[in-house]
Amino acid sequence: MTELYRNLIDGELVATAATLDVLNPANKQVVGQVPACGAAELDRAVAAARRAFKSWSKTPVDDRRKVIQAMASVIEAHFEELYRLLTTEQGKPHAQAQFEIGAASAMMNAQSTLSLEEVINEDSPERLSRTRRVPVGVVGGIVPWNFPVLMAVQKIAPAILSGCTIVLKPSPFTPLTTLRIAELIKDIAPAGVVNIITGEDSLGPLITAHPDIDKITFTGSTATGKKIMEGASKDLKRITLELGGNDASIVLPDADVKTVAEQLFWSSFTNAGQICVAAKRIYIHEDIYDEMSAAIADVARTVTVGDGANQGTGVGPIQNKKQFDRVCELIEDAKTNGYKFLVGGDVDPSGSGYYVPITILDNPPEHARIVAEEQFGPVMPLMKFSTDDEVIARANNSDYGLAGAVWTKDTDRGVAIAEQLETGTVWINEFLHLSPFAPFGGHKQSGFGAEYGVEGLKEFTYSQVITVKRDALV
Ligand code: NAD
Repeated sequence: MTELYRNLIDGELVATAATLDVLNPANKQVVGQVPACGAAELDRAVAAARRAFKSWSKTPVDDRRKVIQAMASVIEAHFEELYRLLTTEQGKPHAQAQFEIGAASAMMNAQSTLSLEEVINEDSPERLSRTRRVPVGVVGGIVPWNFPVLMAVQKIAPAILSGCTIVLKPSPFTPLTTLRIAELIKDIAPAGVVNIITGEDSLGPLITAHPDIDKITFTGSTATGKKIMEGASKDLKRITLELGGNDASIVLPDADVKTVAEQLFWSSFTNAGQICVAAKRIYIHEDIYDEMSAAIADVARTVTVGDGANQGTGVGPIQNKKQFDRVCELIEDAKTNGYKFLVGGDVDPSGSGYYVPITILDNPPEHARIVAEEQFGPVMPLMKFSTDDEVIARANNSDYGLAGAVWTKDTDRGVAIAEQLETGTVWINEFLHLSPFAPFGGHKQSGFGAEYGVEGLKEFTYSQVITVKRDALV
């Protein structure tokens, strides 16, 4: 029988009469059912969060840190169960699911150490003025399906550290591991501090519009981010938006082909390419283009696409049918336009799971959909360039501005290029590394605000300036 997972509302595990099925993308079989919440359950969760906010916001910050650390410990203690469940619902290979669960507890521990210090604006004989940070109130967290656990905890930890309480909604495609964590953390925080509710996409706008939610922290597509911004404008909710990207990797002529080829491959194909900061356009200098593209293709041929639960799988299925159809459409478009495939390109739509073969395109034009759009799948275009100025202009020719990378032995030249890229993060000679202490956020249509670090923590607070006039005669 399929397991029924429950939501966490006001410290209780609750079920609803209506449920949603959750599929394993490796075989399209139902692997769990979750509550299909609507306005009534949301109201209950928000009311619980509002009640809990009163005392939680006054709880000493060191006690709040301990709660987050206790949650991290319980995730660590259930590591194996959680990573296996994550592979079952999300599709990623076990090693990558292990990475995500490990990163989730590490992220919580790291974020629990952050502090928001008071700032003295003026300390003079006339007055003492200081800025303190106060929690905004009840947070609505909305999470996507590509890194469901990491994205959930990286919202929960700073929200509750700041003194806010939270109502979190996982993606309907990948709610199971988060709900298992909800069960595990149920008694760690006081009732109502963390609430986790599931439902269709239609639950999202109810959260955005809820009059008793003060802030939305969202990770997902740019299209949904725009709707959230619009919905939140009605009562000027605070918002943090982590959205899509079309990240460019720039490979300079001095890059070492052997070592860089493998890293370039995994910068694109980890999690079957379903990463906001995956390399989605790879620009290789013309002097090494042939050698580097052949080396990347060689790496691709050693990697197995399959069920993430099988040993030896390097690339799992696409997480859901909608995304599978979209990636297939981009591949078809490339075929129709006669672009050259270096590797892959032949999808079997009747397969047992949502599998797309590793697909690499050889120098398609800049306007090709597979270059201009975020693919979010195991499909990578390699392009040739001649000069730094040319490649910088091509990399910046996007409405997105999430991240990018430069590969070179000459790090000064790499940094000079990085400083001209219109993105929130640029790596030189590495990829996908996100520090819990460095702000992560997108430029242009890749986001609004930031997560991680003190900058991310501040997003859950208002500033309040208190000024005492010292020489007033009262
Ligand atoms: P999505 O926007 O379709 O859904 C994300 C979440 O929003 C889900 O929980 C969904 O149920 C909910 N939602 C859907 N419609 C909504 C609405 N109108 N109002 C409120 N909530 C709504 O995104 P997705 O397909 O789950 O995720 C893939 C996208 O997320 C990609 O574009 C990817 O680049 C982006 N992403 C960004 C980051 C980042 O940190 N910048 C990280 C991961 C993924």
